[in-house]
Amino acid sequence: MTSKTYDVLVIGGGGAGLTAALYTSRAKLSTLLLEKLAPGGQIALTDLVENYPGFPEGVTGQEISQRMEDQAKRYGTEVRYEEVTRIEKGNGHFRVETAGGEGLNSRTVIVASGASYRNLGVPKEKELTGRGVSYCATCDGAFFKEKEIIVVGGGDSAMQEGLFLTRFVTRLTVIHRRDKLRASPLLQERARQNPKIKFEWDTVVTEIKGEKKVEGVRLKNLKTNQERDFKTDGVFVFIGHDPNTGFLKGLVELDEKGYVKGGERLQTSVPGIFVSGEVRAGAVKQLVSCCGEGCEAALEAQAYLENHE
Ligand code: NAP
Repeated sequence: MTSKTYDVLVIGGGGAGLTAALYTSRAKLSTLLLEKLAPGGQIALTDLVENYPGFPEGVTGQEISQRMEDQAKRYGTEVRYEEVTRIEKGNGHFRVETAGGEGLNSRTVIVASGASYRNLGVPKEKELTGRGVSYCATCDGAFFKEKEIIVVGGGDSAMQEGLFLTRFVTRLTVIHRRDKLRASPLLQERARQNPKIKFEWDTVVTEIKGEKKVEGVRLKNLKTNQERDFKTDGVFVFIGHDPNTGFLKGLVELDEKGYVKGGERLQTSVPGIFVSGEVRAGAVKQLVSCCGEGCEAALEAQAYLENHE
C-alpha cells in the first residue's frame, strides 16, 4: 500500500497514454502510468508504422513505443506494468486498484486503455492459440516460414499484417465475410497486387481443426451456405477490437459498445477523469490522432488541477 497521492494517473501505455504522461510530467505534475502489457500497447505489435509524421521511411512499432516511453520517463513519469481492476471516487481523489491488490491514489485519472483484439469465437480457437492460431503477425510471423496460412478480416489490420506475413509464407488466403474490403485504398491495392495473397469472399471460419496444432479450418460461404474444409498451417485473426473498459463499469458513462463517452474537452461523466485515444467513443483509431488526444487530455487535467487547488 502506498499513501502517496499522484496528481495524474494514466491508465494505458499506448500512444495516447504515453503522450499524456509526457505532457503532465513536463508540467511538473507527479504522474504514474499503469500499463498491463508492454510499452506502446497495440502499436508495439505493429511491424512498421508508415503514417506517423516525421518518419518518411517508417518506424517499427516497437521502436516508436520505446522512444515514447523513454521520453515520458525522462521528464519524471513513473511507469509500472500492472492491470487496473477498479476505480473508486474518494474525497478529492480517486482510488485505483490493481490486479496485484495495490491501492493507488490520484487527484485525476486519464483513461487511455485502448482496445484489445477480438476473437472469432469458434471451436478450437482457444485451445490452438499459440499452436497455429495467432493475433500478432510481428510476434509469430517467423514461425510460419514456407507455410500456408489464412488471415481473417478485411480491415487495415488484416491487410497490413497480411502483407507483413507474406515475407515468410508461401501462400496466404484472406477470408473475408463480405465481397468488399474495409481497408484503406493503398493497403487494398498492395494486397491485391501481392502474388502470394488470394481472397475468399463472403466467407467465414466456423471451426478450426487440428489436435496439437492447426491443420485446417471449416469455411462457410455466406451467399451459398456451402461449407467445406480448407487445409492451412496457421490462422491469423484481425477482426477488430473491443474497448478495455471493464474497470470503469458503473463509474463513468460508456456507449453501447463499451467505449467511454468523452465530451468536447475529453472530460468523462465524472469530473477529474479524462479519456483519450482508441478507448474513447468516436475516436479516430490512428497513432497520430491518439497522441493528439493524449496531449489534449493532459492539458485538460492540468487545468482541472489548477481549478481545484
Ligand atoms: P476494423 O477496421 O474494425 O476491421 C475489422 C474487419 O474484420 C472488418 O473487415 C470486418 O468485416 C471484419 N470482422 C469483424 N468482426 C468479424 C467477425 N466476427 N468475423 C469475421 N470478420 C469480422 O479493425 P482493424 O482492421 O483492426 O482496424 C481498427 C482501426 O485501426 C481502424 O480504424 C483502422 O483504420 C486502424 N488501423 C490503421 C492502420 C493504418 O493506418 N495503417 C493499420 C491498422 C489499423 P466488415 O468489413 O464486414 O465489417
